[in-house]
Amino acid sequence: MLIQLQSDINPAQKEAIIQKANALKYKITEVITQQGHYLVGTGKADFDVRAVGNLPGIKDLHIVSDDYKLVSRKWKVNPTVIDFGDGLRVKEGEFTIMAGPCSIENEAQVEKTINHLVEQGVRFMRGGVFKPRSSPYSFRGLGLEGLKMFYDMCRANGIKVVTEVMQVSQIAPMEPYTDVFQVGARNTQNFNLLDELGKVDKPVLLKRGISGTIDELLYSAEYIFSGGNEKLMLCERGIRTYETASRNTLDLNAIPILKEKTHLPVIVDPSHGMGIREYVEPMALAAIMAGADGIIYETHEKPEEAASDGAQTLSFTESERMIKKMQKTFALRKELGN
Ligand code: PEP
Ligand code: MN
Repeated sequence: MLIQLQSDINPAQKEAIIQKANALKYKITEVITQQGHYLVGTGKADFDVRAVGNLPGIKDLHIVSDDYKLVSRKWKVNPTVIDFGDGLRVKEGEFTIMAGPCSIENEAQVEKTINHLVEQGVRFMRGGVFKPRSSPYSFRGLGLEGLKMFYDMCRANGIKVVTEVMQVSQIAPMEPYTDVFQVGARNTQNFNLLDELGKVDKPVLLKRGISGTIDELLYSAEYIFSGGNEKLMLCERGIRTYETASRNTLDLNAIPILKEKTHLPVIVDPSHGMGIREYVEPMALAAIMAGADGIIYETHEKPEEAASDGAQTLSFTESERMIKKMQKTFALRKELGN
């Protein structure tokens, strides 16, 4: 059960609702986010909704049978809209592109990438400054100084910064220079990090774990939402399967399933999902037809010289071609009514 409370509810009214729910054998967790005030009830007993729903202070009561509640689509009729200002929104029914290098390397690289994105009308630039690398000897990112440079250059060009946060201690120093906190696949179940991102008033792009199920992704999203942050996007980025022909297996199935289960926007990352440059474009287009609300991918002026993930990174020419095709594909999906 999910109870939305009125903003002017008083403590006595809230207590009365909790008592009533407890009497029905429901455990109640109070959640206050930047946007709303909720009581999340977990329990199994059937009850007449009127027994609780009519109590003063309740805006709405929803029966949500899923184990995750706040991120479930069962209660929220209108899908989540993440508003970045300047007419920039991530939402169902619109198509968002986020692009940039795997790693931020230097000013010249950022400048060239921004020029490419501005030319193409892309308003989000991705790029890691704290890089989770399989080997400790690989390039691990420019750190906070690199982020400041990245952010300043993006700001000057009206571009939003999407960058990965790897640990709790990085959140506060990164926050002034970050528009979207990316949680990487290796951290999807870092529950301490998720709890802390719940306290942040900035959107979070939560990637699916390397071997994580769709439900596990939704439970992780529930951590952030129940921690207080509703500005959440989910990202399908491929999972590890027995297949070795590609880096990961982009789970296109996850897209319509997530769209049905949750009100959160679904962004797809075909770069990590495939890992092979030539095949990033067809997977991006397939993801759009499957219902993705946006695509995040890697691009670099000289992919063969990229400090990380060059093999899956598009050149600017490839990126431009893919952007045109993605826009056409999205228009076709709309025309088909999908
Ligand atoms: C990345 O976006 O560069 C990255 C490391 O992604 P993931 O966490 O999906 O592997
Ligand atoms: Mn990468």
